[in-house]
Amino acid sequence: MKKNILILGGTLEARRLATALNDQYADRLTTLTSLAGVTRNPEPVAGDVRSGGFGGADGLAQFLKSEAIDLLIDATHPFAAQISQNAAQACESAHVARLYLARPNWTLPDRSDCVFVPDMSEAALLTARTARRAFLTIGRKELGAFSDIPDVHFVVRMIEAPAQPLNLASYDLILGRPPFDLDAEVDLMRDYEIDTLVTKASGGDATFAKIEAAATVDARTILIRRPAPPDGDVVWGVDNAVGWVSDWIGEPA
Ligand code: NAP
Repeated sequence: MKKNILILGGTLEARRLATALNDQYADRLTTLTSLAGVTRNPEPVAGDVRSGGFGGADGLAQFLKSEAIDLLIDATHPFAAQISQNAAQACESAHVARLYLARPNWTLPDRSDCVFVPDMSEAALLTARTARRAFLTIGRKELGAFSDIPDVHFVVRMIEAPAQPLNLASYDLILGRPPFDLDAEVDLMRDYEIDTLVTKASGGDATFAKIEAAATVDARTILIRRPAPPDGDVVWGVDNAVGWVSDWIGEPA
């Protein structure tokens, strides 16, 4: 019988993992990728896909049982701490195996001016003190931290246009989905005369180009520290996750 794998997604890594597992092990497993449902036009994903919250850890535990899930792979964004905590609780109560796919940390360029801060409000305070033209690549949820900064022009990159204008004194909005390319990132930062990049220290290769680009144009990078991965089995990168699943699933019967 095939094993049922639930991938908690919303990331490029989750999509790459679903593709690799379906390409290599379709005879032995099925994948169901779960999206939060916040992006209106998500990229296509190999295997089955569902969308929307589960209703907390208890709802997820119910879902694991009703869908006869054998393994949950948490491939969510490193800053999506709530769903990862829910996944850990749900798998424990439903007795389902769980693997966390962590993104490898970035190796910062030698010549870069990078400052780590603990959270978004510290990032906003430092931006207000030192930036004139700041590139915000922090998603949508925490933009409010920057709303009371009067003398900084913001360039905000999002995946999709927001329904309402942003609550920022002065800004340009640009749309884009990872992966991003170094030359294009350098051009963007030069065109907008960016002196400060504000980003989550998410790791992984899909968005690293902006870190190199900021170093190239001598912009400061303000990095919000990432939360530690949850307890339990952790693999770093998609290839290692595929290897882990290969060991877990064993040889064909
Ligand atoms: P979060 O704060 O950890 O989760 C909030 C709630 O959203 C969860 O309690 C859950 O609702 C629902 N949820 C989150 N991810 C889900 C998934 N993959 N499938 C089904 N429900 C999910 O998450 P977030 O930071 O808002 O991120 C939402 C999604 O966007 C995640 O899937 C993440 O991978 C992706 N993403 C996040 C970021 C980021 O910077 N945070 C960046 C890029 C992509 P219930 O409690 O009702 O189950």
